[in-house]
Amino acid sequence: MTALLEVEDLRVAYGKIEAVKGISFTVEAGQVVTLIGTNGAGKTTTLRTLSGLLKPVGGRIVFDGKPLTDVPAHKVVSLGLAHSPEGRHIFPRLTITENLQLGAYLRNDKAGIEKDIQRAYDLFPILGERRKQAAGTLSGGEQQMLAMGRALMCQPKLLMLDEPSMGLSPIMMQKIMETIVELKAQGTTILLVEQNAQAALSLADHGHVMEVGKIVLSGTGADLLHDESVRKAYLGED
Ligand code: ATP
Repeated sequence: MTALLEVEDLRVAYGKIEAVKGISFTVEAGQVVTLIGTNGAGKTTTLRTLSGLLKPVGGRIVFDGKPLTDVPAHKVVSLGLAHSPEGRHIFPRLTITENLQLGAYLRNDKAGIEKDIQRAYDLFPILGERRKQAAGTLSGGEQQMLAMGRALMCQPKLLMLDEPSMGLSPIMMQKIMETIVELKAQGTTILLVEQNAQAALSLADHGHVMEVGKIVLSGTGADLLHDESVRKAYLGED
């Protein structure tokens, strides 16, 4: 089976600083794959490069059978790759419904868009209850839900989530993680970047540990969760 996403020897630099130093991994359709690692490991840089926001200095990205390396960001979305970025980036003055509609800006199937907005409300009932309110009035966790809902509005083949649990209370984090499990059950393919290794590995089919721009360890979520070096470095065990 060919993978939905193939990343091969990807290198990304900010000027002379190489932030991603030749990483390779794949994401199969229907899987949840996670990249974990400490601050500055290169996880966000990897997602931004896959989105077309940064241009790699080397390597290959193939998405759904097509090379992505030279495709600009706005085209990447139309190929089916959606990115829910770190820090959310919702539009605070627009209503929740308007934020969701913006996620569908490439579509013109009105009925389908309505259906998917309803799906976002089903996934996150609080968004439905507050649909007419300005998105800036939502709590951090609710804004994260909106960012995820908005990314889903372009009906992506691959949903990339950057640190969805960042800054959230344990209950909100639990809700976000449950939603990821639900999305996977509905057939969504997800590439998840997380600092919360425990949560990410618990639900991922595969995981990759990144350290200073390299993948230093890969395995199934369960294998990594039980790996002694991962437990020491990322799960706070002695
Ligand atoms: P975090 O969880 O803190 O976001 P990360 O694993 O996502 O960490 P990146 O944000 O990808 O890491 O950063 C990788 C490296 O690239 C870091 O050393 C960072 O300081 C550097 N870096 C990131 N953005 C820039 C930039 N715009 N200009 C210069 N260096 C950058």
